[in-house]
Amino acid sequence: MLARALACTGENKPCGECACCLMSENPDIVTVLPEKANITVDKIRKIREDAYILPNQSDKRVFIIPDANLMNEQAQNALLKVFEEPPKRVAFILTCEYANQLLATVRSRAVVLKLSSVQRDAAVKYILEQNPGFNSAEVERAVADEDGNIGRALVRLSGEDKADFTAREILSCIGERSEFALMKALLVIEKDRVFAKSVLSAMSVLVSESLAVKMGAPKSYAPDDIRTILSEKFTRHHLIGISEVCLSARKDCDANCNGPLMVTNLCACIRAQIDL
Ligand SMILES: [Zn+2]
Repeated sequence: MLARALACTGENKPCGECACCLMSENPDIVTVLPEKANITVDKIRKIREDAYILPNQSDKRVFIIPDANLMNEQAQNALLKVFEEPPKRVAFILTCEYANQLLATVRSRAVVLKLSSVQRDAAVKYILEQNPGFNSAEVERAVADEDGNIGRALVRLSGEDKADFTAREILSCIGERSEFALMKALLVIEKDRVFAKSVLSAMSVLVSESLAVKMGAPKSYAPDDIRTILSEKFTRHHLIGISEVCLSARKDCDANCNGPLMVTNLCACIRAQIDL
């Protein structure tokens, strides 16, 4: 809707009546999707060049980067060059789960819009309306677990979020303070760097959410949810440490670090954080 409004040439944007609004796919609205789990610096360089092409017939050319956090530092810096002084009639929409997943230099040049979850019953109602075949009890559970975040509840309900599942498994080994189980659970991320990155990101998000619970955020998850468990078992200090360790291991993956070494190092750092 935002992109459509920016592209619209009518009065009350998006007017729904101008040629741009009526196009099913407007070539002036470009969505930048990741390849595997990366938005590469080459891709961003290409966008930088594209940004200087005038809009076809829209008011503005709009680039949407839905998973902006999948740009590594190098890619973000490459974007910064056009982001700092964008050509006239160009707009960028970057979305990510947490603002701090983007460099401060990128954020400082953007208008930051915070989106929050909706009320749980509204989320349940919406999901059931869109997916009449879903089981309402399962939907309620997923919405509660994801605290009203519709997108994440849908991913959970699809059962396809392997990274989230693995992240929860690894975190539960950390929760049990079992080094052997932890080593074993970490083996699955040793060979696939792209998958490892997704798992490490999911771990960091889950740990941040556990920390929010620990700090008294008005959220509650099921008693057997990993976030509830971690918030009960660890101190604030531990949780911050674990989250940092995950992010740093993710950086190692970006730096092409060798898998077994990354896993061994990750395990040692976690052990040091929580005195396994
Ligand atoms: Zn319009």
